[in-house]
Amino acid sequence: MKVQDNLTRIEQEIQSACKKKNRSRSEIKIIAVTKYVTPERAREAMNAGIDNFGENRPEGLLAKQEVLGDKPVWHFIGSLQSRKVKTIIDKVDYIHSLDRLSLAEEIQKRANKQIKCFVQVNSSGEASKHGLSPAEVIHFIHALKSFDKIQVVGLMTMAPNTDDEVILRECFRTLKELRDQIENLKLDYAPCHELSMGMSNDFGIAIEEGSTMVRIGTALVGE
Ligand SMILES: *Cc1c(COP(=O)(O)O)cnc(C)c1O
Repeated sequence: MKVQDNLTRIEQEIQSACKKKNRSRSEIKIIAVTKYVTPERAREAMNAGIDNFGENRPEGLLAKQEVLGDKPVWHFIGSLQSRKVKTIIDKVDYIHSLDRLSLAEEIQKRANKQIKCFVQVNSSGEASKHGLSPAEVIHFIHALKSFDKIQVVGLMTMAPNTDDEVILRECFRTLKELRDQIENLKLDYAPCHELSMGMSNDFGIAIEEGSTMVRIGTALVGE
């Protein structure tokens, strides 16, 4: 499958979710998740007009960036070991997986500019998922006040791998409610306007529930 053909289908689904909820298409960004594919395939996505790319491992990010250059916007979306922060910190525009204070401390120590971060939330409660529990999030946001290298641009979650719409919507709504609460605090270090949620299986539902960034791998570039 050509990336362009996949993108056309994804675009149709995004448009129809927007229409259903009376949202503007311009509120939503597609992040191409290229972790399963070669740099050449990632380049095909860039040529199809994608300008945001996500990788979940430092090595993968560096390998793709070597080929695609720094024209795209780069997102680190995987769980991040503190000792790996220094290898990616000057290479990324966004980190989607801020989930603990020790990681915030390492980012603060290594960053040469302010880094746009998403706080990762385990909205499903699955033991296998990374992220803070919803009940911990507000406290964590307050604790980030002293880190001037971190700007909290939004919240991120991974929903369970299920086709059960009720479960998916519940996770996405939990994230949106938390986002709204934090946004209402009007903290200058945590504007928190964005919702990074929705993957190949559930991006349409995520957009109906308010997503502003969908992270799409398989459905866009293949496995
Ligand atoms: C792999 C991955 C995705 C994309 O998954 P697909 O189901 O292939 O679209 C999105 N977000 C994160 C954090 C991932 O690790």
